[in-house]
Amino acid sequence: MIDLRSDTVTKPTEAMRKAAYTAEVGDDVYEEDPTVNRLEERAAELLGKEKALFVTSGTQGNQIAALTHCRPGDEVILEANSHIYVYEVAGFSALANVQSRPIIGNRGAMDPEDVKHAIRSENIHFPTTSLICMENTHNLAGGAILPIENMQAIYKVAKDNNMNVHLDGARLFNASVASGISVKEYAKHADSVQFCLSKGLGAPVGSIIAGTEEFINKARKWRKMLGGGLRQVGIIAGPGLVALEENVDRLIEDHVNAKILADGLANIDGIIVENQVETNIIIVNVKNTGHTPESFVTALKEQGILAGVFGKETVRFVTHYDVSREDIDKTLAVIEGTVPM
Ligand SMILES: *Cc1c(COP(=O)(O)O)cnc(C)c1O
Repeated sequence: MIDLRSDTVTKPTEAMRKAAYTAEVGDDVYEEDPTVNRLEERAAELLGKEKALFVTSGTQGNQIAALTHCRPGDEVILEANSHIYVYEVAGFSALANVQSRPIIGNRGAMDPEDVKHAIRSENIHFPTTSLICMENTHNLAGGAILPIENMQAIYKVAKDNNMNVHLDGARLFNASVASGISVKEYAKHADSVQFCLSKGLGAPVGSIIAGTEEFINKARKWRKMLGGGLRQVGIIAGPGLVALEENVDRLIEDHVNAKILADGLANIDGIIVENQVETNIIIVNVKNTGHTPESFVTALKEQGILAGVFGKETVRFVTHYDVSREDIDKTLAVIEGTVPM
C-alpha cells in the first residue's frame, strides 16, 4: 500500500526504535526522565523559548495552551478553518470554557484588520478577548504557509491589546523548510507554540509546547490534570530527539514529491488541483472525473493507494518519508488509469 492519507502514518525509523530501546529513563512526573528533559531543552532552544514541555498529542498541546492562557468565559480569536476550531472536539469550549470567535482567512491567514475589529472593547456585555490562535502550516488550506509578515502584524495587534498569541505549528517545520525561515523566527510572533513530532518528523508519539518558564510551569499542571503526566517517557521522547536530529531537513523531499504529484495530477483530464502546493499537502477536486470523493478513494484503494476524502468534491494526498519518488510515479499512473472510468 502507498499510504498518502496523512503524514501521521509514518512508521518509526530504525534509529528511532533503537533510541526507544536504549533511552535512559526516570519518572517524568518528578521531572527525572533525562531523555525527555533533553528533548524539551532541545525543542526550547530550536524555538527560542525559555522552556518546552512534551505532550501526548498536538490536540493536548493546543488545549493546554488555552487552559494556561485563558480564564473561563474569555473569548479566543481563531481562523474559521483552523484545526483547533474544526477538529478538536470543541475542546476549547468543553475544557478551557472559552468562546471561540472564528474569522475567515485567506489561505489560512487572517487579515490583521479583521482580528483587530474582533477584539472586544470594555463593555459590561462583552467577554474578555484574551488569546489569538494562528496555524502554520494551515492544514485545511492545503499546507499553506502563513506569511511571516502576517504573523508579525497579528502579533503586534495582540500586544497592542494586551493579549497572547498561540501558534498551532503542528507542521511548523514544514513551513520552515519550505520558506527558509527558521522555526525560531516564526516562534517570535507567538507567546506559545505547539508542534507535532508525530507527523512529517516521523516520531511515533508526541508534541511539544513551548513558551516562557512561567507559562510552562502552569502548563505542566494542566497537563497533569488532563492525564498527560507520564512516567518513563524517555521511551517515546528518545525517538522524538531522533526526529529533530534527522528528519527536519529531509522534509524538503516530501515537498518536492508533493509538487511532482500535484503537477502530474494537474495534467490528468478531469482532475483539478485546488491548492497552491507549498508543502506536503495536495487537495484535488474530482467532480469532473465521474467519481465522488468516496468512490475515487475506493477505486484507488483497490489498486494499492490510500488517499483521504477531504470535502464534498475533494480528496487529499499527503507526502511523507514512507512515500518514495517511485511511489509518486506509480500513484500518477494508477490515477491516470482510474479517472476515465
Ligand atoms: C494534526 C494537527 C493537530 C493535532 O495533532 P494530534 O497530534 O493529531 O492531536 C493540530 N493542529 C494541526 C494544524 C494539525 O494538523
